[in-house]
Amino acid sequence: MQLDILTVCYLIGSVTFILGLKMLSNPATARKGNLIAAGGMGIAIFGTIFLYQTDNGKGLHNYVWIFSGLIIGSIIGTLAAKKVKMTSMPEMVSLFNGMGGACAALISAVEFDHVYREFRLDTNSFADSVPFVHYFTISAGAIIGGISFAGSIIAWGKLNGRIKDFSFNGQHILNLLVLGFVLSIAGFTYWSHASITNIWFLITLLSAFVYGVLFVLPIGGADMPVVISLLNSFTGIAAAFGGFLYNNKVMLTGGILVGAAGTLLTMLMCKAMNRSLMNVLIGSFGTKNAKATVGKQQGGNYKEITINDTATCMAYANKVMIVPGYGLAVAQAQHVCHELEKILDEKGVQVSYAIHPVAGRMPGHMNVLLAEADVSYDKLLEMEQANDEFKTTDVVLILGANDVVNPAAKSDAASPIYGMPILEVELAKSVIVNKRSMKPGYAGIENDLFFQPKTSMLFGDAKKVLQQLVSEIKNL
Ligand code: NDP
Repeated sequence: MQLDILTVCYLIGSVTFILGLKMLSNPATARKGNLIAAGGMGIAIFGTIFLYQTDNGKGLHNYVWIFSGLIIGSIIGTLAAKKVKMTSMPEMVSLFNGMGGACAALISAVEFDHVYREFRLDTNSFADSVPFVHYFTISAGAIIGGISFAGSIIAWGKLNGRIKDFSFNGQHILNLLVLGFVLSIAGFTYWSHASITNIWFLITLLSAFVYGVLFVLPIGGADMPVVISLLNSFTGIAAAFGGFLYNNKVMLTGGILVGAAGTLLTMLMCKAMNRSLMNVLIGSFGTKNAKATVGKQQGGNYKEITINDTATCMAYANKVMIVPGYGLAVAQAQHVCHELEKILDEKGVQVSYAIHPVAGRMPGHMNVLLAEADVSYDKLLEMEQANDEFKTTDVVLILGANDVVNPAAKSDAASPIYGMPILEVELAKSVIVNKRSMKPGYAGIENDLFFQPKTSMLFGDAKKVLQQLVSEIKNL
């Protein structure tokens, strides 16, 4: 009977994960989806703690350890989530993902220890008594979890500037050799003498950590969000192996869902940047090396516009499109941006937002940012929709976006962003770009758009500029 209730708990957990994921795909339901999935996870965790029984009828007993871990982890997680700035979200995701990978690796290590204690005195090698599938599951969880843990920690360090990009000639070959070593040692462990397999298993785990570090180190710091998404899928797969080991259905479902969602997100991000995953992993995009080989550097003359003229242009336009980018998030100018939209709306100007799928530094960054300021979802246009609207737009106001409006993506085959679909803002009648300087964005390349005749530069921090713009328009 007890086990049946536990199965129902796991079923609820699995269904809520799927529902939560579905709801996360829409900004209007994302918050609720997250809560529903977290609720399901809570039911699965507490169900396991209080209802789980082994085949010989034993339940969990070490409650002090379990609840100490739960309480400490919950406090740290809550404080970190409350404190984190939106622009630092990818590094927090990376750190938490690393913890997931470490958990999966630890589960495998504990299970290995069980098997080791059981068989080391009785047999010559694991191959004599432990089924290969069982050993494979243990070592796959340890290796993938270990890579995910070490890689995520390096990604976290790179994103917050503690670890610098580091690459050298032949590094990818070295990485492949290390990966080959990890797999060979894992195989060797199975067939080596049972009394020393623990040492070989430890070497497997440590070399998986080394591979995780080497795998992420050469990747351009700028590509970290894609790598984090990939590592996230690794953690999911490692957790699914843990689910296999303990025959825990909710862990298996959760792991598979995380693995699949991470893989899909990685593919979508690569597609939105028009780059293959291989190019992300070995391309060193966004590193100093890549910046040295960027496409043509045009430069030239650009014209500036004053706040006063910008206010006039926008207030007397019929249709305005706002293009938010990473700089808007840095300036935390989303609230004043919404205020600008409302004032223009009151003046009869039709205002919408053009959302590029990889604007900002994480998937959905602009949607989350604007949702924070209560911008209505029906004002947000996806890239294809926005590109159709630019032809009939009077003024495009670009707020801290750069690469996602760079025409080099269409015209300069030598550019690292060539082929990336962009917002075709130059189709509008006039374009006003707000940023603080002529410095490049994430890809480290110059933007021809800033030098085009219909473009005007409005320099300054996005928040300050928008505040001045709002008061100027109010006075018109
Ligand atoms: P970019 O990084 O290309 O440009 C942002 C611009 O904002 C900079 O040029 C900067 O110029 C300006 N800026 C910074 N701070 C401020 C401020 N306080 N006020 C005003 N402007 C400011 O951003 P985009 O959003 O256009 O493009 C995103 C890039 O990130 C793409 O290349 C994408 O491929 C990449 N990427 C995105 C991911 C995602 O999931 N969203 C994941 C991985 C990569 P200045 O310093 O002169 O002010």
